[in-house]
Amino acid sequence: MSRIITREQLLQLMNALRAGGSLVGVPVRADNGDAFYQYFDGQVEPLIAPTVFPVTTIKEFFFPKTETLYTFKREGASVTVSDAVPFTKPQVIFCARPCEAAAIPIIDPLFAWDYQDRFYQSRREMTTIVTLACAAPDKNCFCTSVGLSPDTTNGADAVLLSVDNDTFEVRCLTEKGEKLFDGKTTESDKTGSFGQNPPIQFDAAELRERLQKTFASPLYADEPSVRCVGCGACAFVCPTCHCFDMVDTGSVNDGRKVRNWDSCQFKMFTHHASGHNPRRDQGERQRQRVQHKFVIYPEKFDHILCTGCGNCTRSCICELGILPVLKVIAK
Ligand code: SF4
Ligand code: SF4
Repeated sequence: MSRIITREQLLQLMNALRAGGSLVGVPVRADNGDAFYQYFDGQVEPLIAPTVFPVTTIKEFFFPKTETLYTFKREGASVTVSDAVPFTKPQVIFCARPCEAAAIPIIDPLFAWDYQDRFYQSRREMTTIVTLACAAPDKNCFCTSVGLSPDTTNGADAVLLSVDNDTFEVRCLTEKGEKLFDGKTTESDKTGSFGQNPPIQFDAAELRERLQKTFASPLYADEPSVRCVGCGACAFVCPTCHCFDMVDTGSVNDGRKVRNWDSCQFKMFTHHASGHNPRRDQGERQRQRVQHKFVIYPEKFDHILCTGCGNCTRSCICELGILPVLKVIAK
């Protein structure tokens, strides 16, 4: 027997969680037609559909675009520094794409390595992730090339699979998932399904070997360099990209230390105070992104830093993102 829940019951659950003080992250449709993840406000209808490709990513619920780390105040010769209050609210993310959820355990070790990042970790502890298995991968999806699939359960506390438009099978994977759906499902002989696997685009192990041997390849000076405009959109919509910068804001007497997203695709990312820039052109910046994801990060944390979600290509105004670059390298 399986456990099922209806669309109506899911909406009731989201509303009940909100009423009980939890934050509820869902995909919603914006006026321009694009889908985004955002906190459910009870007004905008959540998108409960297995064919939605939000242009943003659930990493924002753990690692916000901008976040205050501490504040400082100066009065005469005395300076008071106050840590920002840690995140304490429970939050539940519904209908995350499986490749989004799979990104979270990949970036977990980064925030618990040489420094225990309590900002990330407190959100992680307080969050339950419910994915909705993909029904229709598009031409930019390549999860199968990095060892995942449309029904990947990595990072999820519970998975929904569509039975029909208004009914979903619920598979709880962790205690958090069980607790969330306890008493909310009914037993059924119906089971949910997911879409076909997207085609495998490259062999990840071979690609890694090739990347290690082709650091100085002229290919980086070619297509990626010519086409990429360095806008950084690929990093901002990527569920695994995690670079940030820390800046002081406010005044010398009353200010904050703020952490903001950054991207290795920005020229200023490696620009030294001397004026020297070790990554001189966009091709070298593209190389960094590919090398970091497929060579450097796996060497350090034993995970490819990419889930094949395709967000970067969907959002790239130059029809680039990572897959076209990987395909050129794989050839
Ligand atoms: S690959 Fe595309 S999205 Fe990424 S920086 Fe270049 S132009 Fe922007
Ligand atoms: S590099 Fe592109 S395909 Fe890979 S996880 Fe990031 S956005 Fe998704």
